[in-house]
This record gives sequence, structure tokens and C-alpha cells, in this order.
Amino acid sequence: MTLKKPYIVAGPCSVESRQQLETIVKQLSALEEVSLIRCGVWKPRTRPGGFEGLGVTALQWMAELRQQLPCKVAFACEVARPEHVDAALHYGIDTVWVGARTTANPFLVQELSEALRGWEGTVLIKNAPSPDVQLWMGAIERFHQAGIKNLIAVHRGFDLYQNDGYRNSPLWEIPIELRRSMPDLPILCDPSHIAGKREPIAKLSQTAMDLGFDGLMIEVHPDPDNALTDAAQQITTDALHLLLQTLTIRSTDSGTLDEQLQLLRSQIDSLDDQLLHILAARSDKAMQIAQVKAQGNMAVFQPGRWDSLLHQRMAAADELGLDKDFVKALFEKIHSESVRIQTEAIKN
Ligand code: PEP
Ligand code: MN
Repeated sequence: MTLKKPYIVAGPCSVESRQQLETIVKQLSALEEVSLIRCGVWKPRTRPGGFEGLGVTALQWMAELRQQLPCKVAFACEVARPEHVDAALHYGIDTVWVGARTTANPFLVQELSEALRGWEGTVLIKNAPSPDVQLWMGAIERFHQAGIKNLIAVHRGFDLYQNDGYRNSPLWEIPIELRRSMPDLPILCDPSHIAGKREPIAKLSQTAMDLGFDGLMIEVHPDPDNALTDAAQQITTDALHLLLQTLTIRSTDSGTLDEQLQLLRSQIDSLDDQLLHILAARSDKAMQIAQVKAQGNMAVFQPGRWDSLLHQRMAAADELGLDKDFVKALFEKIHSESVRIQTEAIKN
């Protein structure tokens, strides 16, 4: 499918009241960059007891607003059950999205694709929380097989056992792999759910543009601090406007060497960012080890452990085709930093 680029989807995490919906829809429909307004109406909550969305009531308000507003607005909502699909279609929704937790469940994806069979609207498919490109591709294929022509993937980051400062780690290599496997499929980035807080959203959006994503899905709320869901990561319409104005859009047709170089460099930047986060997590572990060693009155430097570690790392490096001398020198540096950190820690 061909999209206006960058394709910008913006709107609240959840519809909370008619007033909140009207305010945000009026604000966002005045921004020409915004193509689609996202409105969560059924909210998947990790634990029970929180705000679970207004369901059909919100869909009704959206349908009424669509009639009342002078300009045409397109709406998207999340669907997680076939009954949601029926209601969303009944109220004339333009686009539906499949949330991360649903993508993880092929039975549900199959049911949703059956409920949507032959629909001419657009389906956005978020990646599953686990870093598994196959699961993401499988969901896309199920909708494709149900005759849905307008499919768009949404990268919302991955839930790792040890997240690196983000709510959901970006692991950019996964959407890059999706692009390689399905080159005609548009991919949006959802920096709001990757970040979990406001500050990194602009930088993540730029990285997505540098990597050739087709657009962004960003959570926007008239009063983010008081939002009923995802308050920390929602931004105001003014902040969105500023973000979009400062975004550098890159061409992806890699016509010139310069553009190819730019794309490769931003991929290197993203990998370096991951390397630094991994080093920070490793230093953290070294501190914890120092405490355990101090409790057992053990020496910081344990030659047996260091020899076997170096041996294992060099063998693993060799399998990956990395130069052994380079990897040896790198781990000697990393190890001596770990010894320094532990020595400092036991002094304090
Ligand atoms: C959302 O978009 O509000 C949402 C619940 O996102 P995700 O499925 O990515 O967690
Ligand atoms: Mn949300």
C-alpha cells in the first residue's frame, strides 16, 4: 500500500471522557501532518483493577464526532477479540490495530483475521512483546491470507528480562529484519511504548526516520500528567507539533551513496547505543558481585574464573567470525574495568 510519508498516527492511549476526546480530536485534526487518530477503547491491563477503557460508548462518540467535524478525520482503535471487530466495524472505524499481547497469540490472531476477512480498511499489527520476528510475520501473514490488503507493521519495542532503560527495548535489528523479509510492508515506529516516558520520544522518532521507517504512532493527550493510562509517556499536541517540525525525513530509495551511508551510519549508532547499555548493565552486575565477594571475604581477582571466561569468549568470537586478538584485547579492557569497579566498591 502507498502511504503519505511520514505517516503519522497520533492520539490518546485511551478515550477517557467525551470532553477529552473532543479536545484531542479538534487539536489533532488541525495538524496537517496527522493522518490518523488513534483512540484506545479497550485497554489490555497487565493487572486487574485499572481503567479498562470505555468500549462501545467511546466508539459511539467517535462516530458522532466524525459527523460533526467540518474536516474528515480517520480513527483507529485496538481490537483484541472478534466482538471488538464487530463493534468497531459497526461504528465505521477506518483502521484497527492489533496490540502486542494479541500478536503473541496465534489463536486470537486467527480469530481476528477471520472476523475481518475481506475488510477494506487498514490493519496495523504491533510486534509481540517477545523479540521474535517470526511471531510478528506470522500475524501479518494471517491477515494477508484473510484478504486484508492494507497492512502496516508497528514496532513498539520488546520486553526483555533486563530492559535497558526503555519500557520496551527498541532492538532495531528486528524491524530491520522484518523490512528485509517483507520489503513492501510499511512499518511505523511507536516511540511512546518503547520509551515509557516522554523524554526519549523525539530521539527515538528521529532514529526511526533515519532507519527508513514509514511513519510514527505517538500517544498524545490534552493533559498527559492526568491521563488514566500511560500518563508518563503521553505528550501534548504542542509537543507533537514541535517534534514533527524538527524531524528530519530521509529518503529510503537509496538513490545516492550519501543516503546509503547515512542509513548505515544510523544503524551503527543504534548498535553502539545497545553496546553502551549492555556495558552499563555489565558494570551493574560487577558491583553486585563485589558485594557478594565482600560478604565471603573473597579476593576481587579470581584467576581461574578470568582464564575460563576469556577462553569461552574467544571461542564464541571465533564462531561469529570475529578477530580473536581484537576480542581478547576488548575483554582484557572490560575485565580490568570490572576489577577496578569491584576494588572501588569494596573500599566504600
Ligand atoms: C497501546 O497502543 O495503547 C497499547 C496497549 O500498546 P501495546 O499493545 O504496544 O502495549
Ligand atoms: Mn498506551
